[in-house]
Amino acid sequence: MSGSDKSMKALREVWRRAENSLCADCGKPDPDWASSTLGVFICLSCSGIHRNIPSISKVKSLKMDHWDDAQVQFLAKHGNAVTKAIYEAHIPIYYYQPTYNDCQVLREQWIRAKYERKEFTELGKQLPYTDGVKEGILWKRGRDSGQFQPRKFLLSEREGCLKYFTKQDAKEPKINVKIDVINATFQPEKIGNPNGLQITYLKDNKTRNIFVYHKSGKIKSRLTRNFLKEGFMEKTGPKQREAFKKRWFTLDHRRLMYFKDPLDAFAKGEVFVGSRENGYSVQKGLPSGTQGNFSWPYGITIVTPDREYLFTCETEADQLDWITAFTSVINQDMTPQEYAIEAYFKFKS
Ligand SMILES: [Zn+2]
Repeated sequence: MSGSDKSMKALREVWRRAENSLCADCGKPDPDWASSTLGVFICLSCSGIHRNIPSISKVKSLKMDHWDDAQVQFLAKHGNAVTKAIYEAHIPIYYYQPTYNDCQVLREQWIRAKYERKEFTELGKQLPYTDGVKEGILWKRGRDSGQFQPRKFLLSEREGCLKYFTKQDAKEPKINVKIDVINATFQPEKIGNPNGLQITYLKDNKTRNIFVYHKSGKIKSRLTRNFLKEGFMEKTGPKQREAFKKRWFTLDHRRLMYFKDPLDAFAKGEVFVGSRENGYSVQKGLPSGTQGNFSWPYGITIVTPDREYLFTCETEADQLDWITAFTSVINQDMTPQEYAIEAYFKFKS
């Protein structure tokens, strides 16, 4: 047996080990490439990503390329188990590890974080909030397409803002919002994912929704505050003669927002719900003589200093729930900040 045959036989033995039967980076079965500098067995697709970082990884085909003795010994000494124990020692729980079903962009981010930036080799290097910044991949629903796509989100406590990026290497975030105007609520049913989260924020004083989920775990968010109530009601316009239209309503403390669809990005409109001492009240039913072009029978009237808002609910239970929610808000005194919001609403209308 020649020296070359011997090393190829040794190579096959290492390759056959159970630990090397899945790609070290994406888990795809039967990898037939390996990195001679990192000592990992990887699939063809991940080998292409490794080739983009030649300072870290040199890849060769296990089938077509020649491996010398020293290289085979290196693979034998390392392999997927040992290398993963080093480079994946401390992966934060919120970090999503892509699989071979994920797109190239996502896998490249993972491979670079792992080997190039060595983000997971030491405890605390990536831990949330250690330097006031939490970064991770969330799947965001496209505003128009409705398709969920992986996006990099960054929560900076120091700057007090949440950002997300549409491209992995983008310098400028798609959004950059102050944390104090954000509300996040868990919405597994609406989003159709057990880890679904609705993030609501104000942009140019308009309410904007984004819908995200995390692939592997619940997002422990300090931004979370539950909406007081959500659901469909019908509403009419300011003249109270317009046809009632079915809308999705969300009551976020004093802000009653309505949407055409529960998953809409932008609110169609908003109503400020102030306090009793400032002239706000809620009444069961509609004013007598309201024109009857509504299909739901259970009316609610919200009185503000400027006008009345008329809503109808499909069931009596819904009507009572909404009235309870509005009453609890109206019975509370307004904070100085809420006076400012009220003034803004008055200015806008
Ligand atoms: Zn792979």
